[in-house]
Amino acid sequence: MVGFVKAAMTAEKDRFVSMVSAKAKVDLALGDFHPRSELVTPDRTPTRPRFPVIDYHNHLDSMEPDAVLRVMDECGVERVVNITMQVGQSAIEILERFRGASRRRFATIAWMDWAGIGRGDFIRLSLDSLERMVERGACGIKFWKDLGLTVRDGSGDLLRVDDERLAPLFDKAAELRIPVMFHTADPSAFFRPIDSANERFEELAAHPEWSFHGARFGKDELLAQRDRVFARHPRTTFVCAHMAESPEDLEYVARLLDANPNVHVDIGARTAELGRQPYTARRFFLRFADRILFGTDLLPDAGMYRLHFRFLETADEYFEYPSHASRQGRWNIYGLNLPDDVLMKVYRTNALKLLPE
Ligand SMILES: [Zn+2]
Repeated sequence: MVGFVKAAMTAEKDRFVSMVSAKAKVDLALGDFHPRSELVTPDRTPTRPRFPVIDYHNHLDSMEPDAVLRVMDECGVERVVNITMQVGQSAIEILERFRGASRRRFATIAWMDWAGIGRGDFIRLSLDSLERMVERGACGIKFWKDLGLTVRDGSGDLLRVDDERLAPLFDKAAELRIPVMFHTADPSAFFRPIDSANERFEELAAHPEWSFHGARFGKDELLAQRDRVFARHPRTTFVCAHMAESPEDLEYVARLLDANPNVHVDIGARTAELGRQPYTARRFFLRFADRILFGTDLLPDAGMYRLHFRFLETADEYFEYPSHASRQGRWNIYGLNLPDDVLMKVYRTNALKLLPE
């Protein structure tokens, strides 16, 4: 009898063990796997934001101002900052196209021009062109990730982000009372090997040229160089695009903001990162409400903007982030359910402090 019970229990246990330790090898291409969530949860996507929105990070060079204005009116976007990726005369033409359409609804951030870097008078020329852009109405200048990764000086050496020769440009920005935007490095996954452990594998496999694995300066080093610039120029206001390019590590961003009162961050193209850690992200937003700027870095479109409103305003769960279709990572996000005072600062008031009257 005892032996019989024992045998039955062993059989039962075995069945359980085999159930919970089942392994499967399936033959389905990753790119063909499109699981649909079976969760039944409400979708409270707002049609319009709770407060008027300023999109501080966008690229409109190829867009017609009227088409952008239609989208903005449709979903409560008060102003869009165009970070032009053009330089010289074409940058001025783009700036004027948007200024002509509406001075109140558009602003332009200039783009650092490295073309003459081999020349002895490169810094003087850069200072002149920055002055010219600001005279025409530019409200900032952007240094992109090419600085530190690909830009080389006249002698062919990779230019460091904290190269002292660039210092006059940051001092000039302070004098002109415009912020300097930095996009340094990229998502952490872009600095890791493109292999089965890489959380952005699909995207990097499709665009291997986006990988900086093995670059001369690793990500930590690039961010350290950038952060030295912030400390070296306390009178200059800086905007760190893409959550200081470290949304994967908000503790680090918190230390950065604590150490440098002259630094702001924008959330452009980083809802995927923030929304997969909603508790940590929400605490961060409450703590640094005065330093975070709303930005999208995506083509203006009502659906895209509303998805951002859903992320910031609601407590909705497990929904696809903007640009999910390009497979940045196989996860969904959660809303931050931000309180009104925080929302208003992030949507609008923080940006107003950085824009001309
Ligand atoms: Zn951008």
